[in-house]
Amino acid sequence: MRNQNFIDRDKLYGMLDNNAPTESQLNDILNKARKLKGLNLEDVAKLLCVENEADIQKILDTAEYCKDEIYGRRLVLFAPIYTGNACVNNCVYCGFRRDNKALKRKILTLDEIETETLHLLRMGHKRALLICGESPRNDANYMVEAIRRCYAAKDEKGSTIRRINVELAPMSVEDYAKLKAERIGTYVCFQETYDPVEYAKFHPAGTPKADYLYRLTCMDRAQEGGINDVGIGVLFGLVDYRFEILALMEHARHLEEDYGCGPHTVSFPRIEPAEGTPFSLPENIPHPVSDKDFMKIIAIIRIAMPYTGIIISTRERPEMRDKLVKYGVSQISAASETNPGGYDEEGDNTAAKPYEKTGTTGAQFTLGDHRSLDEVISMMIDGGYIPSFCTGCYRKGRVGADFMDLAKPGLIKEFCKPNAMFTFREYLEDYASPATKEKGLRLLKELTQTFSKEELKKRVEGNLCKIGEGERDLYF
Ligand code: SF4
Repeated sequence: MRNQNFIDRDKLYGMLDNNAPTESQLNDILNKARKLKGLNLEDVAKLLCVENEADIQKILDTAEYCKDEIYGRRLVLFAPIYTGNACVNNCVYCGFRRDNKALKRKILTLDEIETETLHLLRMGHKRALLICGESPRNDANYMVEAIRRCYAAKDEKGSTIRRINVELAPMSVEDYAKLKAERIGTYVCFQETYDPVEYAKFHPAGTPKADYLYRLTCMDRAQEGGINDVGIGVLFGLVDYRFEILALMEHARHLEEDYGCGPHTVSFPRIEPAEGTPFSLPENIPHPVSDKDFMKIIAIIRIAMPYTGIIISTRERPEMRDKLVKYGVSQISAASETNPGGYDEEGDNTAAKPYEKTGTTGAQFTLGDHRSLDEVISMMIDGGYIPSFCTGCYRKGRVGADFMDLAKPGLIKEFCKPNAMFTFREYLEDYASPATKEKGLRLLKELTQTFSKEELKKRVEGNLCKIGEGERDLYF
């Protein structure tokens, strides 16, 4: 185990004292950001202290530039499968916490996992995130079987899940090695809060999760178990968001220095109301993050860690998600259910559901975005975005440091764009509504004209044509 002490609480809070940049400092930092090489901790501390509307807008504009330069208009889609909501922990903000008697508990059988997977496939999904509470019933051996069953499921069109990421409680090196052997994509675990003092208040003693350091070092053990593709994150609302961002930067730096590769993704959930969980109600959240600050956060991370994927979930409302995509988010979940067996209860989730904060049964939190996958994709097309279900890098072994080497020179845009277009075409052929298909095909035609290299353009056209004729799973 390498250095465990990479969060210096006093230093990080100290960096936030009266640290707003002067106009020339701000311009220097943003000019540096436009070189797409990232920012250091001091730069980020200054940006986090910016409060002035006009200056925030400059940060947002810079983030939009960086996002466009690196990712183009691509946006990766996925959906979670909650395999269980039993949990031995008592995190005060979570609907799955042990003492929540209002929640109906369930651990999916392998047959039920297959059923949930089929619902995702029939919507058009190709990327799944397996997620659950921490329970001996959801241990690594169960997850191995769950992953196998999820990968094995095949719908009537022959589609399968091509990448499974997992979001699971910290484990031993041996257990991580078991997951790695099952071809997982990213291993995700959020620290929730990096503040060790406040952490103790939200994660009661006597539960496994009370051990701050064991959680903080889970990515080190994952690396030792062979997993070099990891996702980190915080739950906003617990402590000052500015501290969390600096700590997250330190975590990323630690991974890069000690293992040669920073996190593949970062995630930023905000606390949302959960059934039977009074702490999660807006009036009880200690440090709520406003929409304005949330946009600023996403923009700062986009320019500070330009090659790291930023994920947001269906916790966020559609209008907010659309703005966040512009300023930095590169992956979103869509048409999600957050209770075990939720897709089967909801059918194929293709019917439009009105946006409203409804109560939930068995769910971890309430959803802000109830749109079906087809609706999300339709709106993405209207905004000129390319919906992507691509898993090409993962399946060609371009992960971890190899992926970063590919991404850093900016190749991601030209490399990933064709693959995104291929998966988009598959979706349009197999799962889209007629209206979505019509405008999607129009967008693909326009996109094909944007390749400047004639040879690449021909290869892209060729593959798109083959997919139209029935071939599947083509990627560079
Ligand atoms: S946040 Fe995770 S560990 Fe905590 S109660 Fe919820 S499911 Fe359990």
